[in-house]
Amino acid sequence: MFLKKYIAFVESQESLSERLFWGVLSFSILTAVISTIFTSVNMLSVKAIVATAATTVLFALIAVVAKCTKRIALCYFVMCLLTNVVLLPINFFVCGGFHSGMILYCFMGLFLCTLLNHARARFALVLVSMLSFEVTYFLAWVYPEMVIPLDEDTSRIDVMLSFVVLGVILYVVIAFILAVNAKERRKRDILIKKLEYYSKRDPLTSLFNRRYFIRYLDKMIWPERKGFYMLMYDIDSFKHVNDTYGHPFGDVVLCEVANVALGLKRVSFGECAVRYGGEEFIQLFYANSFEEAYARAEQIRKAVSSLRFEEHPEVHVTISGGFIECSDSMYGHQNQMLSHVDSLLYKAKQNGKNQICVKE
Ligand code: GH3
Ligand code: MG
Ligand code: MG
Repeated sequence: MFLKKYIAFVESQESLSERLFWGVLSFSILTAVISTIFTSVNMLSVKAIVATAATTVLFALIAVVAKCTKRIALCYFVMCLLTNVVLLPINFFVCGGFHSGMILYCFMGLFLCTLLNHARARFALVLVSMLSFEVTYFLAWVYPEMVIPLDEDTSRIDVMLSFVVLGVILYVVIAFILAVNAKERRKRDILIKKLEYYSKRDPLTSLFNRRYFIRYLDKMIWPERKGFYMLMYDIDSFKHVNDTYGHPFGDVVLCEVANVALGLKRVSFGECAVRYGGEEFIQLFYANSFEEAYARAEQIRKAVSSLRFEEHPEVHVTISGGFIECSDSMYGHQNQMLSHVDSLLYKAKQNGKNQICVKE
């Protein structure tokens, strides 16, 4: 139960460094508690018991401060600094010095510094920690009387236990980092896919948007445009539909027209259906002849004009369009193609709407 709550709490943290901080801190607290119990059970020395208990309290205090202030990076920095400059050196002297597992703990302290997110702070922390350990070892070497020794058996048990405890911690921390990292990567991949999708699509109709279409035209159609035909069309008197039946119904009409466009495009041929503007669409066709492509453009016009809407069965929507062959030699640039098809669409409106105009 507690473990479940704890895992949920760590997982609810937003960033990798926050999760790491809570993971590392929890295991540090666990280690400190185990060490305190070990030193107490074995009655190593009062100083040793006080030192390990103080370590536990200090870590718990850091956890409280981190929870209240949410300044995770700073708390991680302080935790590592205190551990490596104060707690571990003191524990080294009171828990048997070189003849105990303290060297292993010092190494672990150094390892934890390398997990800090900020490069400069991490470098400083590692440097200070190494310096602190070197001074500690040097003092213990030159003044051995400063070290409270363990008897031989306790010393061996301490080293053996330290191996187990630190081995488990090392394994858990690394496994934790890898798992969090893999999860973050999966999340990021999903997000990138979503962003890719939304950057290409119109949110209302799910057709490709203008931005994507211009890129698609540039990269995929323009270099090898033979066989491609373009229909640009616009819903007739759409403002009237909006004004009479309301904007939400206007959206329904747009979606239905988009469904017609989607139903008639053949993705495998490089065709695409685009919402080019408000109620303006583009359909790219791939066909063997002008007639075949034009017939499919007409199919769209007829399909739209036969649309019926449950909400307002009296509404009758039509479209007007311009239709061109993309490989026509008159186009020196994509923009000329787009302006020409637009001018044909305009002509269709001028000629009375509900029709598709082609170059004469
Ligand atoms: P025409 O036959 O000449 O094309 O006339 P029209 O009324 O269709 O053209 P106009 O440009 O005057 O009006 C287009 C309307 O399309 C105006 C705008 O409110 C509406 N519109 C644009 N985007 C949307 C949308 O996303 N949803 C809805 N409901 N309406 C939209
Ligand atoms: Mg219109
Ligand atoms: Mg328009």
